[in-house]
This record gives sequence, C-alpha cells and structure tokens, in this order.
Amino acid sequence: MVMSSLSFLRRRWIMMIQDGAVINCGICGEPVPAKAKGSNRICKGGKGTITVDHIFPKSWGGSNDLSNLQPAHLLCNQQKGNRLGKHSQGGR
Ligand SMILES: [Zn+2]
Repeated sequence: MVMSSLSFLRRRWIMMIQDGAVINCGICGEPVPAKAKGSNRICKGGKGTITVDHIFPKSWGGSNDLSNLQPAHLLCNQQKGNRLGKHSQGGR
C-alpha cells in the first residue's frame, strides 16, 4: 500500500506533536501545529496545519521516498507549489 504512505506519515507526525514533540516546517522553519484551533483549517495568523511536502516536487521527478518528504504548513506548502508551478524568474 504505497499510496497511503503520505497520509500515514502525516498521521505519525500529528501523533508525535500531540505527544509533545516539536516538528518544524521544512519551508519556513517554524513549528507546525497538529491541528488548527477551531473548525478552520487555517487559524487566524497561522499558516495552517501540518502537511506532507515534497522537497523535490513530484512534477520535477521527485519521489514519494521518505528522504524526499518533509513536514510543512498548509499555507507554506501551497505557496511553494504556486511558485514552482509558475516558472517565474525570481530575480531578487
Ligand atoms: Zn511553514
């Protein structure tokens, strides 16, 4: 059952956080909450709950291998996806 490995990994991280562990977002480096407060998935001022991010995006040939997966906020994950998807030339 390779398909379920992502949600399995996410569930394991949530359990670790609820157990008192601190898991940092691989994108912004801030601690990721297991669950947002209230019914909203993204709480006020927060960046959302924990999601599984592909360090090397799947669309670029990244794998579902554990070494290519990191925890990330929902918002960080979405913003990264948008940026990578657009092929924008980010000249700083
Ligand atoms: Zn983040």
